[in-house]
Amino acid sequence: MSDAAMKLVVVGAAGRMGQTLIRLIHSIEGVTLHAAIERPGSPFIGKDAGEISGLGANGIIIGDDPLAAFLHAEGVLDFTSPAGSIEFAGLAAQARIVHVVGTTGCSQEDDTKIAAAARHARIVKSGNMSLGVNLLSVLVQQAAQALDAADWDIEILEMHHKRKVDAPSGTALLLGDAAAKGRNIDLAAKSVRVRDGHTGAREAGTIGFATLRGGSVIGEHSVLFAGEGETVTLSHSATDRSIFARGAIKAALWARDKKPGLYSMLDVLGLSS
Ligand code: NAP
Repeated sequence: MSDAAMKLVVVGAAGRMGQTLIRLIHSIEGVTLHAAIERPGSPFIGKDAGEISGLGANGIIIGDDPLAAFLHAEGVLDFTSPAGSIEFAGLAAQARIVHVVGTTGCSQEDDTKIAAAARHARIVKSGNMSLGVNLLSVLVQQAAQALDAADWDIEILEMHHKRKVDAPSGTALLLGDAAAKGRNIDLAAKSVRVRDGHTGAREAGTIGFATLRGGSVIGEHSVLFAGEGETVTLSHSATDRSIFARGAIKAALWARDKKPGLYSMLDVLGLSS
């Protein structure tokens, strides 16, 4: 592996996570900001990425040509939109570089396209890049395995800021997946995403989701195991977006010397079973 700092491109550079990534790359050793990208027509094109992120000018001008930026970079950090991430995965495959995908709200079809790009790119994708949530997912899987489906109902509650566009959150789905794994069931077949009106009694063995949106909340998640007379709650609170950015940079450095493929944050953190 090269000793030189890893050259990273931030796509969605003017977004909430994009700005956080640019600030953090500046303060972490072993990585350097190679380019910053926004979509064509964005009012941020031509602006200094450091200034936009609050760091002060750093000479990296936000551009709209991702392939040109990827060709001379080693990795791309991507917290954008499903359509954006599919495009960037294809370009990262062409450039044979690392692609860290934090974007949530991808459909199964979107995920299939991203997985196809992983034949040539080293892709790390996770609905949550923080150490805490990934550790929590391991604990949720263990609890779901230990607590019998006939007696313990699993409900996942999440809250995020009012500008979030997808629901349930990628993290809620990641935790739901961990619970389903622990129970050896298919989450898609057993999840209850919405309840409204006369729903009838709760069906045993299902995994329920509830979504709250408001204010500037960065991310609150609780997994409740509700039994007769007792409830076990496992939860995580994010108070600073830098936990996700730190995880994404860690993922890029980890994937630097890996073979092409699709990896998760559990692989990066050594938590995969
Ligand atoms: P945001 O503030 O809306 O930022 C997204 C940025 O990406 C915007 O600047 C947007 O530009 C840009 N973008 C979207 N599509 C693009 C494309 N095709 N090409 C270039 N730029 C594009 O959102 P955010 O809060 O940073 O979150 C971004 C994503 O990351 C969401 O899916 C969120 O759920 C996810 N997220 C994941 C984690 C994790 O740990 N995995 C943590 C936090 C957030 P426009 O405004 O022009 O569309």
